Amino acid sequence: MTVHIHPAIDNGVKKGSGSFSGGTLVCKCKDKPVKIGIKGDVAHNHACGCTKCWKPEGATFSVVAVVPRQNVTVLENGDKLQIVDTAATIQRYACRACGTHMYGRIENKGHPFYGLDFIHPELFEEGGWAAPGFAAFVSSVIESGVKPEQMDEIRSRLKELGLEPYDCLSPALMDAISTHVAKAKAA
Ligand SMILES: [Zn+2]
Ligand SMILES: [Zn+2]
Repeated sequence: MTVHIHPAIDNGVKKGSGSFSGGTLVCKCKDKPVKIGIKGDVAHNHACGCTKCWKPEGATFSVVAVVPRQNVTVLENGDKLQIVDTAATIQRYACRACGTHMYGRIENKGHPFYGLDFIHPELFEEGGWAAPGFAAFVSSVIESGVKPEQMDEIRSRLKELGLEPYDCLSPALMDAISTHVAKAKAA
């Protein structure tokens, strides 16, 4: 049995075009879907095993990336959006009807990732966005029901797909967080 990571990845990671200039994220509603406009390409795209990220049916991981918050615009049916958990660090705006998370925003100006919105690039109508490059919070999938003894198989499948598995974020993002903390301490 092959482990399912995410439907957008299970048949291999599709490379980005390198020139993706943005597009439209669309929720799963047949009627009056929420549409979000994104300017430019995504960054730090990755598979995420945390329990907070939105995942499609049957997926073990989410696919999530960041874009500057000023590049995110609600285009259509924004009245269907609601914040999943107003107490969470990331305010995830989801469609009330289909549950799809459209974008996640950090309002705490002191947060290392303030200024970046989290989006799920698989919701783009268009192809060519930067491909996922690693897997984050891999051990956390156990919290969503994966058996600990399946973890070897999951990690080797991620490696096979070219997604280095990390149990927190990637070294680049962990370094960005620590740099932010060090600067804040020095100030
Ligand atoms: Zn919807
Ligand atoms: Zn996540």
